[in-house]
Order: sequence, then structure tokens, then C-alpha cells
Amino acid sequence: MSSIGEFEGKDIPESYYPKLVKELEPINKRLNAFLTISNPEGGFPFSVKDNICVNGVESRAGSRILKGYIPPFNATAVERMLNSGFGFLGKTNMDEFGFGSFGLNTEVPAKNPFDERYVAGGSSSGAAVATSILKYHVAISESTGGSIATPAAFCGVVGFTPTYGAVSRYGLIDYANSLDKIGVMARSAEDVRIVFDKVKGSDKYDTTCTDAKFTAKDKKKVFIIDQFTKGVDEKILSSFEKLVEKFKDMGYNVENREIRLAEKAIAAYYIIAMAESSTNLAKYTGFKYGLRNERFDEHYNEFFTKARKAFHKESKRRIVLGTMVRSASVRDRYYSKALKVRSLLLDEMNALLKEGFILSPVMPILTPKMAEAESLTPLEMYKSDMLTIPANLCGLPHISFPYAYEKGMPLGAQLITSQFNDYAIMDMVSKWEKDFEYRFKYNLGEL
Ligand code: GLN
Repeated sequence: MSSIGEFEGKDIPESYYPKLVKELEPINKRLNAFLTISNPEGGFPFSVKDNICVNGVESRAGSRILKGYIPPFNATAVERMLNSGFGFLGKTNMDEFGFGSFGLNTEVPAKNPFDERYVAGGSSSGAAVATSILKYHVAISESTGGSIATPAAFCGVVGFTPTYGAVSRYGLIDYANSLDKIGVMARSAEDVRIVFDKVKGSDKYDTTCTDAKFTAKDKKKVFIIDQFTKGVDEKILSSFEKLVEKFKDMGYNVENREIRLAEKAIAAYYIIAMAESSTNLAKYTGFKYGLRNERFDEHYNEFFTKARKAFHKESKRRIVLGTMVRSASVRDRYYSKALKVRSLLLDEMNALLKEGFILSPVMPILTPKMAEAESLTPLEMYKSDMLTIPANLCGLPHISFPYAYEKGMPLGAQLITSQFNDYAIMDMVSKWEKDFEYRFKYNLGEL
């Protein structure tokens, strides 16, 4: 059921938006979904992940180092939403620069609206929480390695990551340019489609952005991948088996297959992502953007070091590792090899996706409590991305949707398809939604 369609069919009084903001503010103080809240003048409310620039509104990618940076322009996706009559509601919380899976690598972490002791997921924590608590709202979000699918799964909403290059990255504060994709979170696949239609398409400011024709080819076949169930929590697997049965009822042939290189995807992804992010972070020196060090009499080493202390420890880790893997002495051992893995993995996945869709859980673990997630080592956190990374590494469109509730907490499944077949997986989730009702704990802004 499309909330955009429902909203547009109603008479919206002018008092709606100020009332919505008033209702949202106290709850946001607890859940930390929004970093800024604006008062839209009209239109269906949308939020924007903090790493996507909005003209005149502080945009700092969840980072202290960009505090005070107010872009003088809109990202293309934002511009297109505004031109289509949507109303900007605010910037959403995230792991600094997108580095994280649980939303904890930020100043004030967002909390899961189903139970505030649990994480909201990351890096697009705020976008998922906002979508989960607001009745009428869509989130413009971004994924590099799973930042849309993961929080969408933990917060029980639909999260769509398009084919790489479908949506212009102009105005996105880069994490890793060859991996970043702007996508959508919503409460239904239909809302995702409406928003995707508005924001996609070529843009003179982003040469990687394509005007390709997006299709909806239904292949009537679903693959379950051995490597995507190994190591997955038993509770998740038992409800996932029921989901697989439902797909059979929906008319899909289900087959078990292997993607042998999937096991190397995490290593390849983190090498490429860190190599690219370490170069992207080089521009935050306290000189040009955001937080400023005014001591211009200092030696440049001291000057830069002072400003760069503001980075979160996860960002520092990525600068060190990213710089290492692309240094001349080891580049062939790590970076070049990772690029080869990426292209071979894409070949392997493409061979399957020609015949059907890939279905898997989104996360191998149940939603962790804040303290549990905090106690994970960086490697354990990276490994929790094992199911979202393959599609992201290969630029393949994927959609995450709620399929069960375990002790009141939502579980998310993911469908992957071939490049440019983005509409097919939206259609499948729309079909799924006909017999499955999503649950939400809040419905702020109900009419
Ligand atoms: N967890 C992954 C990372 O830290 C993915 C995050 C993202 O998609 N931005 O890189």
C-alpha cells in the first residue's frame, strides 16, 4: 500500500507540518533519528541522510570534523525530490562518513524504535528509524556496503539500493566512489518505486550516472546460496525457511546454488572501500571544510593533526589501513587482488542472475543490544556484513524487506537481481506485501 498515494489523496491542512514537527521533536530526542529537523512548507515529507548535501542546511556526514559545513547547493537527488513537490523534513543520523554497520560510530547513536536497548543498524541508522516511526515519509539514503539494507532490516522497513550509477552521486559526501549508491527507504515497495522514478537518471554533474532503461524481468526462479546461510543464526534460518516456502507458494522455483567467491567478498570490499575512503578523507584538514583550526602560525603538520583529532577512531583506522593497502610496496598483494576478486565475483553472480533472483537474510545475527554491538571487534563488525557486501561490491540492485518478527523485533530478507533489472525486485516485494502486514510501533503524523 503506497503511503504517498494515500497522502496525496487527502486534503492536507497547513497546520499538518508544524504539528508533525512538534510531535516528532520529543521522540527524536530519545531516538536520535534526525540531526536537524526542518519545517516543510508542503508536499510528502522526505528526509536526507546526513552525507547528502542540502542547500543551506548543515551537512556533515555524521562527523564532528564537518561541523558547521553548510553546502551552498543541493545534491541532485535532493533537487529532484524538491522539484517533484516533496517536502524536506531534515537530515538523518549516520555512522561517521558511512563507516559502520550498527550506527554506533557517531556522536549520539540512533536507537531502535522497536526496543530502545537495541541498535538501529548502520550506517543509515537515522533514515531507518525515521521511516519506522513516521506514517508519511520516505528517506533518501546511501549504501556503500550495506548501509541501506542493514538498518532497514533492523528497523522493519523496506530498503532499496539501486544499480550502481542509477542515481547521481553529485552532492554526496563520498565514502568510496566506486561503491557509493544513493537509494531509498520507505514503508512499502510502491513508495520506493515512486521515489526511485523521481531521482534516477543521468546528470551532467556525475559522469558515472546512467540513463539506462530499467526493467522488471521476472525470472520465476529464486536461488538460495550456500555461502549466504553458512554461519547464520539458527533462529534467523528457521524463519527464513518459512519465507522460502512462501516464495514457492508465490510461484517461484527455488534452487540451492553456490557462489564460491562470496567468501572473499568481505576482504575485497574492505580493501577497496578503505583505499578509496582514505583518499577521500585527505581533504578534511581543518582548512577548507567544517571544523576550523584558526592557528595559521602553526607548522602544517601540527595544524592538520589538531583538526584531524576530531575523526572517530573507526575513520582513523580506515585512513591507516586504506593508505597501507594502496602503498606501492603491497599494492599488488592487496588492492590489485581485491579488484580482481570484485570482477570475478561479478561474473559468478551474473551467471546466476541471468536465470533468477538471489534470496537471503540481510544479517547473519539477530539485532544486537547497544552494549553487545559496542563490544564487537572491528573484524567482527566487518564480518557481520557478509550478506550485504556481495551485491554492493558488484553494484547490483537489491532490496531488503521485513519478513518475520522474532520476539517483537523485525527480521529482514534481501532480494538481489541483475544490473538495471531494479523494478523486478520492487514488484516481488509488492507481491509479498499483499499477504504480509508490516508492523510499526509509531505512526507519527497520522492523518
Ligand atoms: N558496514 C559497511 C562499512 O562500514 C558498509 C557501510 C555503508 O554501506 N556505508 O563499510
